[in-house]
Amino acid sequence: MKKLPVVLITGGAGYIGSHAVQEARKNGFDPVSYDNLSLGHAWAVQGSPLVKGELADRKKLSAAFKKFKPAAVMHFASHTSVGESVANPQKYYQDNLTNAMTLFSVMLERKVRYFILSSTAATYGDPVEVPIPETHPQAPINPYGDSKLMLEKILAWYDKAYGLRSTFLRYFNAAGADASGKIGEVHEPETHLIPLVLDAAMGRRKEITVFGQDYPTADGTCIRDYIHVTDLAGAHFLALKRMMEKDKSDFFNLGTGKGFSVKEVITKAEEVTGMKVPVKMGARRAGDPPELVARSSKAMETLGWQPRHSSLENILRTAWAWHQGYFGKIKTSRQPAARSRQARTRH
Ligand code: UDP
Repeated sequence: MKKLPVVLITGGAGYIGSHAVQEARKNGFDPVSYDNLSLGHAWAVQGSPLVKGELADRKKLSAAFKKFKPAAVMHFASHTSVGESVANPQKYYQDNLTNAMTLFSVMLERKVRYFILSSTAATYGDPVEVPIPETHPQAPINPYGDSKLMLEKILAWYDKAYGLRSTFLRYFNAAGADASGKIGEVHEPETHLIPLVLDAAMGRRKEITVFGQDYPTADGTCIRDYIHVTDLAGAHFLALKRMMEKDKSDFFNLGTGKGFSVKEVITKAEEVTGMKVPVKMGARRAGDPPELVARSSKAMETLGWQPRHSSLENILRTAWAWHQGYFGKIKTSRQPAARSRQARTRH
């Protein structure tokens, strides 16, 4: 049997990383995960090797490169909470930046020349144009986005100096879960909207707090572009194949081009789950731009990428199936949402 090229996936036990591991073989790559399991979960890596190690542990990382001889690296291992990054920037610059530098130095040493960076819409800051094209000015308003922008800048210089090619994938809001029901989103503590809304629907959490209702948007709550994690994972391999074929660095937005407000997400979640989601109105969260919606035509045209799984309904449906499976059966006093009850009687 022909040996497939190996892709080393840092953070392969994490939410998006584990979905990339799942997509690797379908795309002609053999995945090897490198994860310290501080945020990730060993169960999330199924049917492929997992090296438990710190990115800061240069010796261990180097040994993994030596053993598995990756042709390329996908780098998911990082902290991703906007609010936390504002409160604790040291953590974000230390881990997101300096650990990546160690990874780059091992790549240079081992002559691995292809790198996919999990970048983010947060590198754009407050948009001056929506939908946001890739050419939009990058002026992050939180340390999370700033740490990723720094990596983009470093990698642009590494391309020129060392021929290390990289593709920056600027994710909008990753959500949903693999259709198999075997992997999905579990952050501890959870900070992201959709799992928190589902927690509230299940009664695992008293309510969801809406962070700010005085934004300059139609209903006053923040608008985000939610992209299904399976679509996101698939884009990594399209981008990797193209980068290796053309031997050229590039950068792409990964979003659907359609935004939903926090309130719209909650309403849709009630519809999909059939459960009432108790809501509390709260203050704005520091570091949140009012609206982040992608112009994603570049990935569609250049990579032939299509976000096929990313309707808000499918995102919520797959996330709900995962959430219920992982967190147990609904043990709750919540009442089904009125709208869903009507919908059920109509059919
Ligand atoms: N959000 C909220 N309540 C929460 C968590 C998030 O209102 O408990 C809002 C948040 O302010 C943002 C949107 O939901 O406008 C998506 O936030 P998330 O943390 O999921 O992703 P981010 O946009 O920060 O990457």
